[in-house]
Amino acid sequence: MRRKLDIEGIGMTSQRTRNRLVGRLREKGIRNEAVLQVISRTPRHLFVDEALASRSYEDTALPIGHGQTISQPYIVARMTELLLESALPPRKVLEVGTGSGYQAAILSSLVEKVYTVERIEPLFRAACELLYALGYRNVSAYLSDGSWGIVREAPYDAIIVTAAPETVPPALLEQLAMGGRLIVPVGKQGEVQVLQVITRQGETSYTILDHEYVQFVPMVSGKP
Ligand code: SAH
Repeated sequence: MRRKLDIEGIGMTSQRTRNRLVGRLREKGIRNEAVLQVISRTPRHLFVDEALASRSYEDTALPIGHGQTISQPYIVARMTELLLESALPPRKVLEVGTGSGYQAAILSSLVEKVYTVERIEPLFRAACELLYALGYRNVSAYLSDGSWGIVREAPYDAIIVTAAPETVPPALLEQLAMGGRLIVPVGKQGEVQVLQVITRQGETSYTILDHEYVQFVPMVSGKP
């Protein structure tokens, strides 16, 4: 994948273009200033193929190859906001579905430590290289089936899932810290999926809050 590596950039990659995106996110109801600020300074154009860079500050999902997409900025902002608004301030976060690495980059600036897991090797490699090149040093990336979580680093204060499982993988529930939040789109592909916020209240007790309807690529189990 060819990428534009001029981080400052001009024209379509300029600060003004990014600020316009932040304006649209505000209009759509994103209120968390820390999240908006990080989005305004994160170079999303570097996380997509050069051919799509001109569209990278539109509020839309874009293809990243292998049938996958970089999530729509509104969804990234919304999920990040939901994650930060937890009663347990998240220090240690697991992301399932690294994809381009964009969501991990956003989280990296807002929490102490990010673990991210991807099952498609070329996406995993490209994301690792890019996150490293851009200086995100508090992100550890894993190549694995994320429906098992990353048990070795558990528990997590928050877990964010950026691909939709039909039902919530039990391992992710088990790897949440007490009071921790799991943010996950749940539902069948081709049907409406619901963004759920699941909070761990006790050893085996969880509360589930349905937020909004969303559309994600499916969570797939096993090796590609
Ligand atoms: N957060 C990403 C969005 C990527 S789309 C970004 O910011 O770009 C969802 C990603 O989840 C895809 O890359 C897909 O390969 C990955 N995925 C799907 N099922 C998975 C699984 N079981 N384990 C790990 N990753 C998975």
